[in-house]
Amino acid sequence: MARSRWETVTVDGDPVPASAAVRVRFAPSPTGIFHVGGARTALFNWLFARHHGGAMVLRIEDTDVERNREEWTAGIVDALRWLDLDWDEGPYHQSERSQLYTEATEKLFADGRAYYCECTREAREERTRANPTPGYDGYCRDRGLTPGEGRALRFRTPDEGSTTVVDVIRGAPVFEHATVEDFVILRSNGTPIFLLAVVVDDMDMGITHVIRGEEHLPNTVKTLLLWDALGGGAPPVFAHVPVLVNQARQKLSKRRDKVALEQYREQGYLPEAMRNYLALLGWAPPDGREVVGLDEMVAAFRLEAVNSSPAFFDERKLLHFNAEYIRALSAAEFVGASGPFLEHGPWAPGDFDFAAFDALAPLVQERVRTLAEVPAMVEFLFLPEPRIDEKAWEKRVVRGPRAKEILAAALDEYASCPWTAAALHEVTAAIGERHELGLAKAQFPVRVAVTGRDVGPPLFESLEVLGREPTTERLGRALERLEA
Ligand code: GLU
Repeated sequence: MARSRWETVTVDGDPVPASAAVRVRFAPSPTGIFHVGGARTALFNWLFARHHGGAMVLRIEDTDVERNREEWTAGIVDALRWLDLDWDEGPYHQSERSQLYTEATEKLFADGRAYYCECTREAREERTRANPTPGYDGYCRDRGLTPGEGRALRFRTPDEGSTTVVDVIRGAPVFEHATVEDFVILRSNGTPIFLLAVVVDDMDMGITHVIRGEEHLPNTVKTLLLWDALGGGAPPVFAHVPVLVNQARQKLSKRRDKVALEQYREQGYLPEAMRNYLALLGWAPPDGREVVGLDEMVAAFRLEAVNSSPAFFDERKLLHFNAEYIRALSAAEFVGASGPFLEHGPWAPGDFDFAAFDALAPLVQERVRTLAEVPAMVEFLFLPEPRIDEKAWEKRVVRGPRAKEILAAALDEYASCPWTAAALHEVTAAIGERHELGLAKAQFPVRVAVTGRDVGPPLFESLEVLGREPTTERLGRALERLEA
């Protein structure tokens, strides 16, 4: 079947309507946690709209009353705000637009493009079991049934011909009409199917480009048949973005993989890092650089450059990106971003000391990969006693070379040396030398005794911020424990 389309022109490699502004929509169904794949779809829509100076509509597809929940919708809106993906219209809710869907089904029936069907599932299955082609057999097609109790409305699919989907990412897949059954558009309980609502809304909202997950590709032929039957004129250009897979090349799943955007947010990923990483799932900036700012991304984004093969969601790479984005923050930004994570530290609320944190923050910033790692790095400053990591204690103090002598010497010399990181460094290096140990080894028992861990921000700066008295008290207690 020949399809009329928008008169398109190519702008920056992408087909856009010659005489209309680009309009895209992000149309999530609020039936569960907001998935990183959904966030990637939202981002691609947003990048495309911003690149072409168009508009993005947010449409909540909440027609499935049994599976939708208010909180899932709130989660989507929050997540988009967190990622700083603003929309120009909406959120529209499909649940408030049912009148439009009813009108559309009435029109299709009146025009003879749809018919009522009273086949029960059992009857249908009984009849079609032996058929070579699966699906509905058209039993009620010409029975002239009127609306009534227990009757569903089916779309009358053309028997012949084919529909070509124009897809910027996937070329032009062709779907033979003979393979498409007369599908239900209005259930026998009177509710329209999801696909119909999507078509009606895309028409009503003047959507020029449908950018969505590849799982929707097989349904696009039905979309286009409905579009035609409803007299929608030029249908949108499609772009089905590739599925996200894990390391084993399995489709990301809620049960198996970490897919909730919320979880990454709670674990201290920065929205900028997340956004940058998501953009690379199926797309790559032309110059091969991976860490790209938002404005650059908007300028460089091309729908036509999106790949059709599955995209590997690599958590390790995301973590690496995050660390890089954390290091790129200004000191003040890092302190600000850490705030919410510090609220849940293990110390008594009144014991947190902003000045102490600020003093050490730039050194912590260099060493964390997520903001959730920040509290553990600084808790020794705010707890009356360090929480001792017993494994580190065993390895670095109980079995560490000359650990007891080093602790004793440090206790002695720290009591009177100048209290600066430089002086502490010098004194500790000298203690190490006397025991034929390099600085790295000599530091360990001191670090574990004072901070409780064998990793953390640079030791001497940490001691300087903590202060002489708490430091020597901790060294003393560690020695007592060793002797006990
Ligand atoms: N509501 C659908 C989903 O969440 C998207 C449908 C579409 O974009 O056409 O998967």
